[in-house]
Amino acid sequence: MKSSTDRPSGLRRTEAGKENNTAKPPSRFLADLHLFDLIGKGLFGLDLEDGGRIIAVGRVGAAVLERTVSDIVGFLPDDLLPEAVTRSITEHATLASPRSVTIETPLPTTGAPDRIIAWTLHDITHDGKHLALLETEDVTTRKHNEKRLRNLFRAVEQSPASVVITNTKGVIEYVNPRFTQNTGYGFDEVIGQTPSIVKSGFTSDQQYRDLWNTITAGREWHGELLNRRKNGEMFWEHISISPVRNEDGEIAHFIAVKEDITDRKEYEKRLRYQAHYDELTKLPNRILITDRLGQALARADRNQDHVGVAFIDLDDFKKVNDTLGHTYGDDLLRVAARRLMSCIRSSDTVGRLGGDEFLVILPDLKDGTHASTVADKILAAFEDPFIILGHSITTTASIGLTLYPDDGREAEILMRNADAAMYLAKDAGRNCQRCFHPEINTIAMHRLRMESLLRGAVTRNELFVVYQPQICAADGHLVGAEALVRWQSPEFGLVPPLDFIGLAEDSGLIEPIGQFVLETACRQFAAWQTRLPPGTRISVNVSTRQVASPSFSESVAKTLWETGLSPSLLEIELTESLFALRTPVIMDNLTRLRRIGIRLAVDDFGTGYSSLSYLREFPVDSVKIDRSFLIPVGDPAADALVRAIVAMGHSLSLQVVAEGIETLEQMAFLKTIACDVAQGFHIARPLVAKDFLPFALSLHGHHAP
Ligand code: C2E
Ligand code: MG
Ligand code: MG
Repeated sequence: MKSSTDRPSGLRRTEAGKENNTAKPPSRFLADLHLFDLIGKGLFGLDLEDGGRIIAVGRVGAAVLERTVSDIVGFLPDDLLPEAVTRSITEHATLASPRSVTIETPLPTTGAPDRIIAWTLHDITHDGKHLALLETEDVTTRKHNEKRLRNLFRAVEQSPASVVITNTKGVIEYVNPRFTQNTGYGFDEVIGQTPSIVKSGFTSDQQYRDLWNTITAGREWHGELLNRRKNGEMFWEHISISPVRNEDGEIAHFIAVKEDITDRKEYEKRLRYQAHYDELTKLPNRILITDRLGQALARADRNQDHVGVAFIDLDDFKKVNDTLGHTYGDDLLRVAARRLMSCIRSSDTVGRLGGDEFLVILPDLKDGTHASTVADKILAAFEDPFIILGHSITTTASIGLTLYPDDGREAEILMRNADAAMYLAKDAGRNCQRCFHPEINTIAMHRLRMESLLRGAVTRNELFVVYQPQICAADGHLVGAEALVRWQSPEFGLVPPLDFIGLAEDSGLIEPIGQFVLETACRQFAAWQTRLPPGTRISVNVSTRQVASPSFSESVAKTLWETGLSPSLLEIELTESLFALRTPVIMDNLTRLRRIGIRLAVDDFGTGYSSLSYLREFPVDSVKIDRSFLIPVGDPAADALVRAIVAMGHSLSLQVVAEGIETLEQMAFLKTIACDVAQGFHIARPLVAKDFLPFALSLHGHHAP
């Protein structure tokens, strides 16, 4: 016998236990214990009249406690069995009527903490004694399975996908909360029904038959169905249905896992839309319009009809976009698209090709006259200013027309022809329509060639500046000169600015060209300063694009400093359209230029912006009345207008310059209305540098021209 110190601490075997150890336990007990050993259950015999002392234990029971039989028999249960079990044993000892109770609890030992044992206590009376049988069963696996099942159920309940379980007849036995949420049907409303409760009516019977045949044959079915919620709303589901088999391998249920893919379907639809429509204007895009043109041509071919194609480009879009920003630009395009729509029949198509380019297809025409009428309508529609975010912006359109089958038989070719014709309209001064003719392609080529040559013109020294004198209208003394750029191209000869400034503006070349003119003119006038009458100014033209650049005023200041010209001798000529834009960058540039003492002039006054209110707000020094106002001298209405401009300019303390003075008659008129300065062929043509100084000196002394 082992000494008590060998035993686990806390173990007590009482004197009574020793006696019991010798006093054999009832024989039926032992037989039962062996029987239990055989079926793998542990069994303990307890004496309830002696504090539940263990009087017998089987092999399996001892193994459960991980002790030998002799370390168990004769001991009180307190030290060996889990607390919950010993508490129950104590209760049983006091109970009058016998009963069985089962407690599931982990073993108290540290050896196998994860094992869960079911302890069942049966009261028995044996030989008049109140005994108990304690039966143990390892329920660890069962417990784990139960837990897994519980988790599985929870997962299904909380699944983001709808889950529906039906019997083999298709009758719903279970739906998870997601299903009820998604369909709007309550749990009780669908149990006992079939999934056809969510049918939309859009799925063919054939598709349902396929589905049913697949799953009843024991295979999985996947597919997308358009279903209907309780509130009538349609929704798309991606559905997987699997047969579930029982232990015998027979199909017992079907389980459907359904994912709501309405958003995805919507997205796909949008993608398809985006592939064919322009997001900004909602008009057909290049792909779709090319397709529609193809269809129109095929129909025209059958019906022996004509098809008109109009290519439309907004004239000042780039300027608006560059100076006012993209928000304005986008808005302008949207409004322009609407105006175009208002000009056509419902059978015609307007599309946006990109940027500020639109295409109109006019199908089923007898000849080209209708196309030309539509083009006129479009031009008229663009005459009214656009009100964009509080700004009044005028953007005319240039339109190129071409006709099927006269000018071409394929969509691609017709579109190219219309594009080329549009450039003809641009070259003709914009805001007009031009028809395609075969020589046009050479014009388009010419334009491309010109742009590529202009790109290198500054560095190849092909640009130069001429100076046109400006004199005092009253006494003829020289007040200044306007610097005008020229391009001496080896290929095209002498190119006037009107033929390349627009191209330079469109292609971004205006900045280096503008800088070249400014620098050349400033350097020239700085060099002539001592030889010219004091205060003789140089006027330099700048494009809106230049003034819209944040660095413009700084680069002008730098040029003055580098060339040594006094700021008061420089005048910058601005176009009227610039004032319509009124952006912070432009305002800022003008204010700074003015602050360093540079004069500002409004060029071509009266041709652009219709409101004169800007003259009060902007810091300008002079206005140059456009040549067109002075051509019909002698006409009372025209004379009155010029007179009014001069008076108004003076009332705003502005100097008034008249340009394009070609005759003595015009000159005399200027004197009578007290116009300040005159410029024009009558005084002098623009002069190359070497001719300017002699002319200036010839004026000196005999003032009257
Ligand atoms: P603008 O600023 O109004 O310049 C006056 C234009 O009228 C010049 O044409 C000049 O040669 C022309 N002109 C002067 N007197 C008469 C006359 O008595 N009769 C007629 N019929 N015409 C006269 P040019 O040099 O061909 O320039 C045309 C336009 O090109 C200029 O109009 C100006 O807007 C632009 N431009 C010229 N140089 C530059 C430049 O360096 N930068 C920019 N951004 N634009 C320039
Ligand atoms: Mg000018
Ligand atoms: Mg002018």
